[in-house]
This record gives sequence, structure tokens and C-alpha cells, in this order.
Amino acid sequence: MAKEKIILTGDRPTGRLHIGHYVGSLRRRVELQNSGLYDKIFVFMADAQALTDNIENPEKVRQNVIEVALDYLSVGLDPAQSTIFIQSQIPELTELSFYYMDLVTVSRLQRNPTVKTEIQMRNFETSIPVGFFTYPISQAADITAFKATTVPVGEDQEPMLEQCREIVRRFNHIYGETLVEPEILLPDNAACLRLPGTDGKAKMSKSLGNCIYLSDSADEVTKKVKSMFTDPDHLRVQDPGKIEGNTVFTYLDAFCRPEHFERYLPDYPNLDELKAHYQRGGLGDMKVKKFLTAIMQETLEPIRTRRHEFEQDIPGIYDMLKKGCETAREAAAQTLDEVRCAMKLNYFDDAELIAEQARHYAAKQ
Ligand code: ATP
Ligand code: MG
Repeated sequence: MAKEKIILTGDRPTGRLHIGHYVGSLRRRVELQNSGLYDKIFVFMADAQALTDNIENPEKVRQNVIEVALDYLSVGLDPAQSTIFIQSQIPELTELSFYYMDLVTVSRLQRNPTVKTEIQMRNFETSIPVGFFTYPISQAADITAFKATTVPVGEDQEPMLEQCREIVRRFNHIYGETLVEPEILLPDNAACLRLPGTDGKAKMSKSLGNCIYLSDSADEVTKKVKSMFTDPDHLRVQDPGKIEGNTVFTYLDAFCRPEHFERYLPDYPNLDELKAHYQRGGLGDMKVKKFLTAIMQETLEPIRTRRHEFEQDIPGIYDMLKKGCETAREAAAQTLDEVRCAMKLNYFDDAELIAEQARHYAAKQ
């Protein structure tokens, strides 16, 4: 049988989802879901992982599960095609993590550049929770439990995927071919790999408060674009401006399509010409921001409208999540059985083991 094509991807329920998630992962997930090329799709909310750095704030995680679920549905994830579930409801994942912990060294975890940056960002200094430090292992459990072949995520997840592949190889080497090595699927547009925040900081992130949320009102979006970081040296309209590191242009790279020019800025044939004019001088930030606002509103309006519709049936969403958890649990339990068997932890299912030991001791009589 040809290997099934399985997608797994998720988000931490630490806040509503933002446009960084959208271009980095969500937009792609929906395309993949609708492509019909995948046998199974699993999308989950990593609530247990979110607790690793929010241990004193369980209410935040709890409240954000529904927010993320609403964001998923409003961008077009469809529970009929994608299994949407909540990490903590799948205890099999915890057991897998525990076994994988023996396949990873502390120094290997310490080298993970994303974890390093996140530790700095959270000012953990020397008091890093063990659970946070080891979350790449738990992520490997999430991915392998569903035998995922494809993981569509943002660039910050690359070290996690590498770590996961190492665990799979090590496991299969020691215990025999059991786990599936996943591939990362990064956005194909460079601007989407790691969308910067509206403040121009490296990454738009729920934890940094520099986000445009998918659920922001039209007014909030307009305000946020207006105050966005551009080129700090571009003081007068006639001054030449810089494109590199200019957040407004990075967002245009991520969101602008040729038809947007016809609709909102017909004086320019394309983005290259707009950039060239900005670099030459004579193009003001306000004009570019107005254009970006129009594009953002066009992109976010249908998402916002769908969200309002889904908000009318919160109990229905919980029912959907419960079913998703049941489906996910079956899949994870199947993998865990195989893992236990490979690791020789299946005492009661192994009639041969019991019979052989019985013969051994009988022979000693
Ligand atoms: P937190 O601050 O709680 O870690 P986050 O905003 O970093 O939140 P995650 O839930 O950690 O979001 O990330 C979920 C997914 O979205 C991952 O695939 C990640 O790569 C992607 N992603 C997050 N932020 C961005 C961004 N700014 N640009 C592109 N992709 C992103
Ligand atoms: Mg993150």
C-alpha cells in the first residue's frame, strides 16, 4: 500500500490567531485541505504545550481554545474534511513523549535555536520549566502519533521538525521501522516565513502584542496599519525610502495580488513599480498604507463575517471538537500500540512471551 499522505499542524491557544498565522500556516492548510490530495488532516490546539509557559494562567488557555476554534472555522477549515482536536484530551501523546525523552539529550535540546529565543523572550533566565524546555519532544509525539507526513508551519518550527525527524530515525533504528518521518512544508513566499509584527520586530507573535488579529474589527485594522513601522528615515514624501525591513512592504509582499492594483491603486502596474517609486522618493507612507489597508480589509472581511456566524453556535463548536478528539484519540492509540509493541512493553498482548517463560520455568522443575 502506498504511504498515506497525512497532515498534522496546530497552534497554541494563547490568544486569537493573527495574520502571521494566516500567511505562515492557516492559508496553506485550507488550500491543502481543499486540494483533495491528502488522506487525512489533523489540526489541533496545543493547550498542554501552552500551559508550559502559562502554568499559572490556566484560564487564559481555556478561554482561548474557543477563540482559536472560531479562527479555524472562519478561515475555512472544515471539520468534515479536517479533524480538529485538543491536545490535552489525547493522553496517548503524553505517554509517547515520555518514551521519546530517552531518545534526546539535554544538550541537543539546549541547541534548539527557537527554544533559545523563546526562553530569552520570556525572561525565564535560569528558571526554565522542564515542560517548556522539552516541548520539542512533545511536539514530536504530536506529529508522529498521527503518522504525519506533512507539517505545514512557519519557519520558527524548522528546528522542531528536525528534532522530530531525529527522534523518528533513532526510534526506528533501535526498535524497528515504526514511526513515520515527517516533512516540513514552509510557505513558498519569503515574506510569509516569519511575518514581522506591526512594530517591525522580528516576528508577529501573540506573546509580543504586535499583532493584527484575524478577528480585529475593520476600524482596528485601519488603526493598526496607520501606526505601522515603516522606514524611520523616510521623513518627507520626496525622500528616498527603504524597502528592506519596511513592514508595510513586507505585508504587501505577503498579501498583495496583481488584481489589487486594478482595484485600489491603478496608477501603478505592480508591486515592483510601487517599490521602485518609494525607493526613488516621491511616494508617501500614507499612500502605501492606504493601499495596504484596502487589501487587508478585503482579505479579512469574509473571515470576520464567517466568524460572526460561527459565534452564534458555541455549543455546536464544542460538539465538533469533542468528536474531533475522539477521532484523533483512536489514531493516536493505534500508534501507541505499535510503539509499545516495538519497545517490548506489550506484556499482556504477547502470548508468545508468556508461553516461552512458562516453558522456561517448567523445564527448571
Ligand atoms: P506564542 O507567542 O504563544 O508562541 P505564536 O504567535 O508564536 O504564539 P504559535 O501558536 O506558536 O503562535 O504558532 C502557530 C503556527 O503559526 C506555527 O506554525 C508558526 O510557525 C506559525 N506562525 C506564528 N507566528 C508567525 C509569523 N509571525 N509568521 C509566520 N508564521 C507564524
Ligand atoms: Mg510560538
